[in-house]
Amino acid sequence: MNIHEYQAKAVLKEYGAPVAAGVMITSVDEAEAAAKKLPGPLYVVKSQIHAGGRGKGRFKELGEDAKGGVRLAKSVEDVVANAKEMLGHTLVTKQTGPAGKVVNRLYIEDGADIARELYLSLLVDRSTGRVAFVASTEGGMDIETVAEETPDKILTLPIDPLSGVSDADAAKLAEALELEAPAKDEFGQLARILYKAFSDEDMSLLEINPLIVMKDGHLRVLDAKVSFDGNALFRHPEIVELRDKTEEDAKEIEASEHDLAYVALTGDIGCMVNGAGLAMATMDIIKLYGAEPANFLDVGGGASKEKVTAAFKIITADPNVKGILINIFGGIMRCDVIAEGVIAAVKEVGLTVPLVVRLEGTNVALGKKIIEESGLNVIAADDLDDAAKKIVQAVKG
Ligand code: ADP
Ligand code: MG
Repeated sequence: MNIHEYQAKAVLKEYGAPVAAGVMITSVDEAEAAAKKLPGPLYVVKSQIHAGGRGKGRFKELGEDAKGGVRLAKSVEDVVANAKEMLGHTLVTKQTGPAGKVVNRLYIEDGADIARELYLSLLVDRSTGRVAFVASTEGGMDIETVAEETPDKILTLPIDPLSGVSDADAAKLAEALELEAPAKDEFGQLARILYKAFSDEDMSLLEINPLIVMKDGHLRVLDAKVSFDGNALFRHPEIVELRDKTEEDAKEIEASEHDLAYVALTGDIGCMVNGAGLAMATMDIIKLYGAEPANFLDVGGGASKEKVTAAFKIITADPNVKGILINIFGGIMRCDVIAEGVIAAVKEVGLTVPLVVRLEGTNVALGKKIIEESGLNVIAADDLDDAAKKIVQAVKG
């Protein structure tokens, strides 16, 4: 689960990280009062969307020359004028895709006098099985570009979970960031604060880009992107409160309500599969035959008829879907339950695209019989390969 920058900063502030004063607003009416709460004379108006690259982004309705999604303002009036241009408008960044995202919230923040922009993040390093810091002097740029062009400018440092951030760890990171006093002296504490926040809140990513050294030599967290491990959310009700559903894919929200593992993708073949491994294999084989999956969907082991119906509805609600492939290996899941779920769903929402069904395993004969007798226009397939070929052919014509 992702949250907004202003929320991430509030969480980090609780742990003692240095963040600027700021006020979140949802309407232009609030802009003046928000700015007046800050010291000035420099303000920053920041679009709050679940995507990065806002500074370099562009608003759809405004011309190419207009300023981006993060703007400096030199007076309260300037804050209000910028808020008017930004709120309710669609911001397109490298991470939003061409459709962009509507800016419904703005964060009005105290402006900082920046001397240096650095990169610092924490993530779960799968190769070492530890939480690792990633540090680079190249802040403000996207780290993927740095990794590609100047990989030697990135330090990845896994942390021993038993000892936490040691003095030696802090010193290594501070050196990689080329810090000098007083920032150098503040850094150890900041690293421990971030590590504690990451661990205690079950984050999966904490990215500060940029972490800045201000002209007065002190450190400040200037941007913050935080993602939480969805499997641990049950023990963080106050984090769940921060969820902004308007930022999420409607189909993914619907799927999560039915406890379905669903990820929306951009292709045109909708997939309904049981088991994550089989779902991945199904997506691969669709690609192998020259098409793209519209989603990842694992209905799970013991899915009920209702769950299958919900899954089918989510797939057919996607306007990109030009064909559906159901690929079920009935182990715990019974093929007849799948068949009944599909028929119930088709009766409710109709079927306007080709549907290929491949059933195998428990109660397969009964499942096939139910589908045959339903009179549904289904293309039957014998195995995974056959199924993928048939659906790609049906979609591509
Ligand atoms: P994004 O990464 O989405 O573009 P950032 O929060 O990193 O958004 O902001 C982009 C840039 O705007 C920063 O790299 C920094 O140069 C500037 N900036 C952001 N917040 C402030 C602030 N409070 N004071 C001064 N400059 C800022
Ligand atoms: Mg940033």
